[in-house]
Amino acid sequence: MNRNFALLTTVAAAGIIAGCTGSPNSSLNTSIGPRTRAERTGYLETSHYADVIAFLDSLKGRPELTFGSIGKTNEGRDLPYVIASRPRVSTPDEARALGRPIVYVQGNIHAGEVEGKEALLALLRDLTNARRPNALDSVVLIAVPIYNADGNERFAHQAENRGSQNGPEMVGVRANAQSLDLNRDYIKAEAPETRASLAMFNAWDPHVFVDLHTTDGSYHGYALTYAPPLNPAAPLAVWTRDSMMPVLRQRMQSRHGFPTFDYGDFIDDDTLSKGWVTFDSRPRFGTNYYGLRNGISILSEAYSHDPFERRVKSTYAFVQEILSLVAEQRAHVMQTPERARQVPIRSQMAAAPDPVGVVAEIVERTGDSTRTQPGVPRGRRRSGRFVTVKMPVYERFKPTLLAAVPGRYVIPQQDTAVVRVLRLHGIVVNEAGANPPSMELMGDGYVFMIDSTVTAARPFQGHREMRLTGKWRKENRPIAPGSFLVDTSQPLGLLAVYMLEPQSDDGLVDWNYFDPELKPGGLYPVFKLGGSPPTP
Ligand SMILES: [Zn+2]
Repeated sequence: MNRNFALLTTVAAAGIIAGCTGSPNSSLNTSIGPRTRAERTGYLETSHYADVIAFLDSLKGRPELTFGSIGKTNEGRDLPYVIASRPRVSTPDEARALGRPIVYVQGNIHAGEVEGKEALLALLRDLTNARRPNALDSVVLIAVPIYNADGNERFAHQAENRGSQNGPEMVGVRANAQSLDLNRDYIKAEAPETRASLAMFNAWDPHVFVDLHTTDGSYHGYALTYAPPLNPAAPLAVWTRDSMMPVLRQRMQSRHGFPTFDYGDFIDDDTLSKGWVTFDSRPRFGTNYYGLRNGISILSEAYSHDPFERRVKSTYAFVQEILSLVAEQRAHVMQTPERARQVPIRSQMAAAPDPVGVVAEIVERTGDSTRTQPGVPRGRRRSGRFVTVKMPVYERFKPTLLAAVPGRYVIPQQDTAVVRVLRLHGIVVNEAGANPPSMELMGDGYVFMIDSTVTAARPFQGHREMRLTGKWRKENRPIAPGSFLVDTSQPLGLLAVYMLEPQSDDGLVDWNYFDPELKPGGLYPVFKLGGSPPTP
């Protein structure tokens, strides 16, 4: 991931000596079929784009697999996907007809974080080698192993591209070819990779989204850390957190020997007892975004100080256990959540009810400037000594602002860029006056009066993010023919609310879609038609 909290004093892991022991179903089986570049090189190297394509080509003809491209990168590379299922499916309709959970697993969004790519390739091979029934008899797997293909090809030394990672020596970069972080692009959707994945989400409507990463440096005691959707508006977030993750955690330990925990960093490496904090709730992050599409999502973060081989194996085991648990829990996984009348649009981090023992490794000063291990700063050395410290664990968010859900949002005719991005997300937008004629010409609703506009001091991802303060006023208003209408009762109504509310922490206001129309004392141009009074 990327919160460079990293470091210096403390930390990490209980099961340093690698290797995935445990149940036979946890081990990669390289005896039948192609080997990944990582496997062929004894985990000294990771796959280039051409290696991924060649590996997938060598799986062609296996009866469970369908191959395709989700779209093209800036540099014209096709982004391969593989659908794996018994019986084979090649269309969303065929997948739906099976009545099984659809699980979308993505590797390589941050292209220096390479084990997801390798694990997914190996898993596709092994699941289709297996003679006994396995997850492919119970779920439909959509694998996208090399999502940031352009970033993958910008190979440089790990010390340069991934400063806190224990090999392999040469890896790609975090950003795509536009210098965008794809894991901040899920709302604004400015990258072709994002648009391609949104099109896949719209077409296949997966029940579960899994995003494979590597941690950024803190020295903890876990082979892998994870997060459910962290946005409190995500309807299945609590179920994922409280019902799925504890089971996965237990199985990773008992079946594979891999300790796992909630993703996070120590607040203060010198005073561990201050706590352990997760990252962010906003839907610019893929797994949070996917929660707002009413889905289940899981962020997977292999431990960056583990050797590459162990990271591939822990990621492999985690995806395998997710597939199996999703199959077992299909009724919950496939549920359609109830529609909310109020949606949290801002939130703040909060601690789990009770303090938890978190494992940290002591990192020592060497007294000189030698490098002891790739990914460990010069002058520091991992000690192999671990401490378990009880501390508050901040792994959840609580709402700080709720929005009342209107019947519809009315968007002025000129805001075509807004309409375009909503449609990229699969949100249905209709034109007033056309469908059906004359029905929506006048309506009771609410307008947002802007008190102030607050522009971020520093640019982020090419934007200066925007915040509004103000209040709502009831109004009866004509709806101009040609305006655009977004009905919140549609399947992606929740996502539409999050994107269109003027005070949302990650909506289209934030990403500057409305900037020319926003002035203190003026009105936010989107009108809320119908529904209950907005909260102040
Ligand atoms: Zn990452």
